[in-house]
Amino acid sequence: MNLPEAFVKRMETLLGDEFPAFLACYEDPCQRGIRLNPLKCGEDRLRESFPFPLSRAPFSPLSFYFPPEGGKVGALALHHAGAFYSQEPSAACAVTALDPQPGERILDLCAAPGGKSSQIAALLEGKGLLWSNEVIKSRANVLLSNLERMGVRNAVVSSCYPDTLCPALAGFFDRVLVDAPCSGEGMFRRDPQAIEEWSEEHVRSCAVRQAAILDSAAQALRPGGVLVYSTCTFSPEENEETVRSFLERHPDFTLEETGLSGGRPGFFGMDQARRIFPMDGGEGHFAARMRRVGDAPAADHGEAAPASRALAEAAREVWNEVFRIPMPDSGIAQAGEMLLLTPKDTPDLKGLGVLRAGVPVCERKGKRWEPCHGLFMAARPEELSLCLDLPLDSPQLAAYLRGEEIDAPQDWKGWCGVAAGGVTVGFGKCSGGRLKNRYPKGLRNHG
Ligand code: SAM
Repeated sequence: MNLPEAFVKRMETLLGDEFPAFLACYEDPCQRGIRLNPLKCGEDRLRESFPFPLSRAPFSPLSFYFPPEGGKVGALALHHAGAFYSQEPSAACAVTALDPQPGERILDLCAAPGGKSSQIAALLEGKGLLWSNEVIKSRANVLLSNLERMGVRNAVVSSCYPDTLCPALAGFFDRVLVDAPCSGEGMFRRDPQAIEEWSEEHVRSCAVRQAAILDSAAQALRPGGVLVYSTCTFSPEENEETVRSFLERHPDFTLEETGLSGGRPGFFGMDQARRIFPMDGGEGHFAARMRRVGDAPAADHGEAAPASRALAEAAREVWNEVFRIPMPDSGIAQAGEMLLLTPKDTPDLKGLGVLRAGVPVCERKGKRWEPCHGLFMAARPEELSLCLDLPLDSPQLAAYLRGEEIDAPQDWKGWCGVAAGGVTVGFGKCSGGRLKNRYPKGLRNHG
């Protein structure tokens, strides 16, 4: 691998005796892994169905390695269904350090494509509020799509600059994650472009941007709340130095242990932080956990505006057509032509670049309201009035994921979920023994 000369020199200085072991790792393939999504699938089911052997990783109880020679996993039906997220295991360390608790309000400030957000959602178990923000709009759309695939019910997705979002939500969150844009030195084995983009100047400019993002993030946290800072790079300027200067500027924050066992302590005396190198079983990550001193409940920031009574009723009608369980008792909001079931704690969203808040229930099509793909993705098969559960190796499931019409029981009529090996993957409309396909075009398998 053609590593930048200046990077090699810097790593030699940083690692001393361990440098040869570090360099030798670049002869090996990169680590491959997945993270179980317990919102949609149990560990036993995933282990039985995943086509490669899984071994547990030390950075999160939900993370697993699979062998480097394992093929692509993105086209697997269980991936379409959101049973797992494709994630290199050391990347899970930041959320393990964040330690979100069900019912809390969590901000993931730099969230696309959504690996860490979906891990936070899993740990929230559908309770509380996850606010996932991504400044680049096209990436925020990918984030939204990933959270929908993973069946997350309690997320707000926004595309906003941190210095606009965080003051508007000052003191609102119990925990904030800053998984900062960085020079990506821990990506070199996986992404040749990260090598091309690397320079010492880039390292320095990333550090300046990280400081600004952290200063904004601090405002969004309630006193007593937890702030986790993470990167996928090795440079001290972007890691220990960024944390040290943040703590200097913010004396109301203290450094805490991350609670992580994998990897090794931070450098330069910052033992509480965690570093993971390729020789520690990960591609490369840094995580530090800080706490805002004090003890006060999260601030009140109003409520998201509810939809009119007539629209709430329209949403309830669609819900009752699709589900055999009652609609949860949280608010219905309107966003353009869509009605959404908003999470209980959702604050006023005005001016914050919100793309979605909660689960989309239905969409206006002419004069009718039709259910949304996201509604089915957030449902369990047994909650639905009709659900066609197809075996993972069935040709019918493969045809459904290609967007084709498939057979259905003769007497089924109306909106019908489709499940892949017991995990919902989409929906269609049944009549006359056939299911008309509603799997979104952009998600379909080809060939
Ligand atoms: N947490 C994500 C995950 O686990 O999937 C990965 C986040 S990535 C390391 C950092 C993100 O920060 C990128 O998506 C990037 O677009 C975003 N970003 C870039 N500039 C930013 C800025 N000035 N403020 C906040 N985020 C920024």
